[in-house]
Amino acid sequence: MTNIILLGPPGAGKGTQARRLVEERGMVHLSTGDMLREARTSGTEMGRKVAEVMDRGDLVTDEIVIGLIEEKLAGENARGFIFDGFPRTLAQADALGALLKRSGNRLDAVIEMRVDDEALVERISGRFTCGQCGEVYHDKTRPTKAEGVCDECGSTDLRRRADDNAESLKTRLMEYYKKTSPLIGYYYHAGDLFTVDGLAEIDQVAKAIANVLDQAKSS
Ligand code: ADP
Ligand code: ADP
Ligand code: ZN
Repeated sequence: MTNIILLGPPGAGKGTQARRLVEERGMVHLSTGDMLREARTSGTEMGRKVAEVMDRGDLVTDEIVIGLIEEKLAGENARGFIFDGFPRTLAQADALGALLKRSGNRLDAVIEMRVDDEALVERISGRFTCGQCGEVYHDKTRPTKAEGVCDECGSTDLRRRADDNAESLKTRLMEYYKKTSPLIGYYYHAGDLFTVDGLAEIDQVAKAIANVLDQAKSS
């Protein structure tokens, strides 16, 4: 069983690579962003607050996201988890370590996907996803084969995220550098950090991640 974290700024390609790993290796994808987007449609007071915070580009409280992850870990008996967009703070990283330990598991690799800010603006402004199956597309780098139709499931329900705009991205990037990038040092110190070039083509990034997984398994 292999547990990994995909670490990188918004638009680095975490979701894209996580979906491939699910398909190719049967791992379970845990995205706190996806969980929070689901929570915001629940019509509860909590959902309304979460929506406001997300649209601004700020981080949701540690308490809420740790609670979501704890629930998922308790309910799944997986062949390995991919943590995508979690942890985003040192408190979340500590909490994840404790949760894994409690269930007799450990972290095998933290994969930092390195991409520069200029590319992120391009990535985020062209991103759209399938509302039915979650497949991730891009206007230029990964368009659908038929205009307006999902390649994977045939749905025409293609959506753009409310927070994928220039203003919110600015806040999200600042939050990343202030609160999340210290995790790179944290996991480097723990000996768990691997870095891949997130600017490479999607297939090349997938290969680099596969290499890391093979390395982590044999260590
Ligand atoms: P991206 O794929 O662009 O990095 P995500 O889908 O991971 O974005 O997250 C979208 C938003 O959800 C974040 O901007 C933040 O408001 C909230 N969020 C997601 N994960 C976390 C987390 N671990 N801690 C706090 N807030 C989170
Ligand atoms: P994250 O989950 O890290 O926020 P996504 O996987 O949603 O990132 O990718 C952001 C956007 O960039 C999407 O539109 C996706 O299709 C595109 N993308 C992802 N990886 C690459 C890549 N290696 N090269 C070019 N575009 C990419
Ligand atoms: Zn689809």
